[in-house]
Amino acid sequence: MISIQIFDDEMREIVDSEPSSIHVGGNFQFTEGPVWMEAGQCLLFSDIPMNIIYRWSPEEDVREWRNPSHHANGNTTDQEGRLITCEHGSRRLTRTEKNGSVTVLADLYQGKQLNSPNDVIVKRDHTIWFTDPPYGIRADMVEQTANHVFRLDPVTSELIVVADDFSRPNGLCFSPDEQLLYIGDSDTEIHHVRRFRVQADLSLQEEGVFAVIHPGVPDGMRVDQAGRLYCSAGDGIQIFRSDGALLGKILTPQTASNCTFGSVSGTTDLFITATNSVWGIALNIFRA
Ligand code: MG
Repeated sequence: MISIQIFDDEMREIVDSEPSSIHVGGNFQFTEGPVWMEAGQCLLFSDIPMNIIYRWSPEEDVREWRNPSHHANGNTTDQEGRLITCEHGSRRLTRTEKNGSVTVLADLYQGKQLNSPNDVIVKRDHTIWFTDPPYGIRADMVEQTANHVFRLDPVTSELIVVADDFSRPNGLCFSPDEQLLYIGDSDTEIHHVRRFRVQADLSLQEEGVFAVIHPGVPDGMRVDQAGRLYCSAGDGIQIFRSDGALLGKILTPQTASNCTFGSVSGTTDLFITATNSVWGIALNIFRA
């Protein structure tokens, strides 16, 4: 079951102490990449080892949506509502078009195969930002010289390195005004979230370590409309105010890997992928 830990009164504005929750399902292997699809009013999420993307809606419950998924991991949508997916198995970033066809957006950097794209976000200017740690491949398969954070121009296909000094870059998200970018480093020796200021030319200026995640490591993350960071951790989702204060936690029975805002019957819900299970938690806020 889900429970709430409160460290600051602001947490009470976000979620009830005993919130209503939905157990989307519990027989998965390792869930990741939750994304709310506005057009279908449904949740998509990956089960990486099972090689499946699942679809869930209150009306139709859980069913397979893409099998095989090329061991898909992180998912998001672009400004047109199209699905953008990180694929471990094929070591590429893809876009699923409205007609269902799949377009490869990136699979090479400087002529060498990407590691295993992990998580992805889209800025309002349509640029696509993603992380490329080596979790999905064997050590002898690595071709890249670093575990990069990339920015992709989807029109020109130009791929730019925006950060090259992460050990294991993983989840990432922008502040509501997109002036700030949070990126987690899930190396077990590091386990922190760094914050960057996005420059006019879309390069990044380091602001330093924003949060140290304990227990576990930071994986996927989201920001709400008040700029609060919802970061996955070993014990669930940890919620930080933009000044870095830890407001509280949404505790999950197993390690949380990612989360996304969605909407069931008009409320705002936070969907959490937590190892074998996926949960939906009713929040009292509007999403970003
Ligand atoms: Mg991840």
